[in-house]
Amino acid sequence: MTSNRRRFLQRSGWLATAAAGFPGLARAAEDPAVASAARPRHVIHLVVDGMSSGTLTAADYFSRLARQQGLRWFDLARSPDTVSAFVNMRSLNSVVTDSSAASSSWGSGSRVVNGVLNQLPDGRDLRPLFSLLDEARWERGLVTTTEITHATPAGFVANCSSRGDAEDIAAQYLARHVEVLLGGGRKFFDPKQRKDKRDLPGAFRAAGYAVMNQAAELAAAPLGPRWLGTFANGHLPFSVDRQASSTLSRSVPVLAEMTRRALAKLARADRFILQVEGGRVDHAAHNCDIVAAARDLVAFDEALEVCLEFQRRERDTLVVVTTDHGTANPGLNGTGTAYKETPALFAHTLRVTRSFEHLEADLKKASTVAELSRLLREATGYKVPEAKAAQFLAWADKRTAPLYDGMDSLSAQLGQLLANYLGVGWTGSAHTADFVPLLARGPGATRFHGYLQNTDVFRHYLALADIDFRNPEVPLLAESRPGAAEVEALA
Ligand SMILES: [Zn+2]
Repeated sequence: MTSNRRRFLQRSGWLATAAAGFPGLARAAEDPAVASAARPRHVIHLVVDGMSSGTLTAADYFSRLARQQGLRWFDLARSPDTVSAFVNMRSLNSVVTDSSAASSSWGSGSRVVNGVLNQLPDGRDLRPLFSLLDEARWERGLVTTTEITHATPAGFVANCSSRGDAEDIAAQYLARHVEVLLGGGRKFFDPKQRKDKRDLPGAFRAAGYAVMNQAAELAAAPLGPRWLGTFANGHLPFSVDRQASSTLSRSVPVLAEMTRRALAKLARADRFILQVEGGRVDHAAHNCDIVAAARDLVAFDEALEVCLEFQRRERDTLVVVTTDHGTANPGLNGTGTAYKETPALFAHTLRVTRSFEHLEADLKKASTVAELSRLLREATGYKVPEAKAAQFLAWADKRTAPLYDGMDSLSAQLGQLLANYLGVGWTGSAHTADFVPLLARGPGATRFHGYLQNTDVFRHYLALADIDFRNPEVPLLAESRPGAAEVEALA
């Protein structure tokens, strides 16, 4: 047992109780798995946003096709010293979470309503993880492929009644002087684009930040100052679109590079925590776009590899990798006699060169079967049958509607059309209530075992940092339908 843990147990009276004749409690206190769990000095919390199990599976197959190797995720899962868990990510008001409620549950240990960051329904602010760790002299970093003010990074730092208030979140990052901020979202800092015209980059510089806009600046950035890097006005481009553009490939760093640089800088501190988010896997899945999702998940996996390499050098590093919820639950569906056509269909993913997001403007202009067919053939290699192209156009002209309302969008319709060609079907285009996988390796990993509640993650991080603190929690809210009883049953 570490001396810190012994002190904690003595403080809380557990050792005295155990000694007084409660053998069960004594066993719990002396559990070798728990007792041997040392404390990390570095914590890396990696999140794929919106990764259903089917997305992970498809990305692993895609990685085998494109890179002749599977995902590092599964090498980590196979490692004997990796601990794994399923996590219930539900929010305060629904079994289906959004990213702000999910990240807030990790970031404050308290469930909040979807769309809210670290704030209870009565308006009480919750103390965020990064603020507590700052007080304990940990340095803190956020790295993401979304706007840096987006819900998942913000959930470790900010208090906000609406996740959409990105300009306020940008100002909170400054006030809470987060040491490393790398991602997209320049528009929320730029005085010309901010509603209040505040010169936030100037204020960051005055507070000792190196402010960067280009990949080359990040590569050359001195390790001493704090960093604010926004490499796109909005989200960073999807990997599939970045790879197809020499301009984007030059100006926008990949997630693995941002992670490598962030670790080089933060490693100078005695203690640090870094959140790394592959944020656009969620956006791709909302679009029912398996290639954009798989390529971004491969890019995330390369960032995971950077973190595992860091851990090999710095043994007191805890690596936790997970997702915040499923999105649209894709899956390779059986096609053909004995399903033998599925692998050949899925191999068509290698021919797709544009994300649905990138295709959308051109798609909206395609008004004839011939135009649609040419566009799809060029962007994906699909020779769409005439009848299916006509069906798609009938939906686009609002002459038909899908049976399932959750598929009533251009990208969801395209995803269904391309399911015939890529072999990947979707259950919808929204978040799902899936329990999510979590892997942990390094000192403290044994805590992340079995079946966890999302709020446990916060408690474990605080315990590992030897911080004794608890945010207030409130009971689950009844959804409008069904009633409180059903919410209780699903708690
Ligand atoms: Zn989402």
